[in-house]
Formats: sequence, structure tokens, C-alpha cells
Amino acid sequence: MVPQIQTDQTGKVTINPAITAMRQSRRCHAKTKRTGLPCKAPAVTGYNVCRMHGAKGGAPSGTANGRYVHGSRTTKHKAMMAMIRYCVTTAKEC
Ligand SMILES: [Zn+2]
Repeated sequence: MVPQIQTDQTGKVTINPAITAMRQSRRCHAKTKRTGLPCKAPAVTGYNVCRMHGAKGGAPSGTANGRYVHGSRTTKHKAMMAMIRYCVTTAKEC
């Protein structure tokens, strides 16, 4: 275990900078189930919650997903088909 407080060659007391940076990191905003108090675990970068409270949850999308076959069920393809359907239904016959 890395000591939090160290002394250098001159006897000056210093705080380990790695531990200082860790303590200043953003904290999880979720409340714990048992006590109702904030979780206080470090939040995952880009999220307001920690890894145990839902950060980066869910399956990967697109080709990164193991069930990806041909792409006709992707959100992008579904949106494109809906737009085509809308254009076809709203077009007037000449
Ligand atoms: Zn948490």
C-alpha cells in the first residue's frame, strides 16, 4: 500500500500526489440502497455515477455487439426507413 503522507530527504512532510488527485475526483451521485446516503465512489469519466451504479451500462451497439448480423435493425437504418415511408405516404400523385 502506498503511504498517503511521506517525508522527503529534508524531513519535509508531503502528501502523495496520486492520492490527492484520487480524492479530488468527481464522486458518484447515486444514493445507496441500504443507508440512503450518497455512494461517494469515484464517478466514471463522462458519467455522474460510478461503475456500480450504471455507468457504461448496456450492450455495445453496431458491429461491436455479438448479435449484429446485417444492420437492418439498427437505429440509423430504422430512422432512414421511417423517413422513406413518410416521404412515400405524403407524396402526391401527379
Ligand atoms: Zn455509486
